[in-house]
Amino acid sequence: MIEMKNVVKSFGLFTALHGVDLQVREGEIVVVIGPSGSGKSTLIRCINQLEEHNGGEIIVDGAQVGHGRKSTVLTEVGMVFQSFNLFPHMTVLRNVALGPVRVRGLSWAAAEERAQRLLARVGLEGHVGKYPAQLSGGQQQRVGIARALAMEPKVLLFDEPTSALDPEMVGEVLDVMQQLAKTGVTMVVVTHEMGFARRVADRVVFMDGGRIIEEGPPDEIFSSPRDPRLGSFLQAVL
Ligand code: ADP
Ligand code: MG
Repeated sequence: MIEMKNVVKSFGLFTALHGVDLQVREGEIVVVIGPSGSGKSTLIRCINQLEEHNGGEIIVDGAQVGHGRKSTVLTEVGMVFQSFNLFPHMTVLRNVALGPVRVRGLSWAAAEERAQRLLARVGLEGHVGKYPAQLSGGQQQRVGIARALAMEPKVLLFDEPTSALDPEMVGEVLDVMQQLAKTGVTMVVVTHEMGFARRVADRVVFMDGGRIIEEGPPDEIFSSPRDPRLGSFLQAVL
């Protein structure tokens, strides 16, 4: 579903990704871990072309992305941000319905019906008429997930979706993500929630200094890290 080959991303003279190779199979759940500044956000922002890579290739669902190709693939990739990024002046229902109307050409009626169904799925059926500011952080992030799902993406990218939440709200968002993981959608999740990685990931990818240092099944990554950089990262976070 995603193939990155020798992907390089520089910001001016600074290189954030030094030739990354990553393959994600259809339906696979990949969790990306690593210290702050290691290039995790840059990696997933290159996949959905919020950043354009300078070298190498990125192929999503069989189509090249980047280098001037504004690929239709981008509408197949959904993103959930740390900071929710909801429109404050729109109701929850409108926030979720907007993408399908604007990008997929659905009528408002059809898009709102889809939004209702998705908001129920993330446990927010009673909140559809509210504005984002009237919701808790955990509820806002569940709206963010419903909004991403409304585009019926083949790939869902999450960039630290629980990092901005108060601790008591982390669980409700991770629960929704764990349910999603069972539906067959391909997911790439950047997170510091090691419990989630252990429970849900098919594969864990450890980044440091703009490189993938180690990857493998969660059991192996957490129980027998080979690279000393992974060992000391785990000691610091576990
Ligand atoms: P992570 O998500 O792992 O914390 P990032 O991908 O955000 O790391 O950043 C990786 C490196 O790239 C950091 O050193 C960061 O400062 C740098 N970087 C990220 N975005 C930009 C940008 N727009 N301009 C300049 N440097 C950036
Ligand atoms: Mg980041």
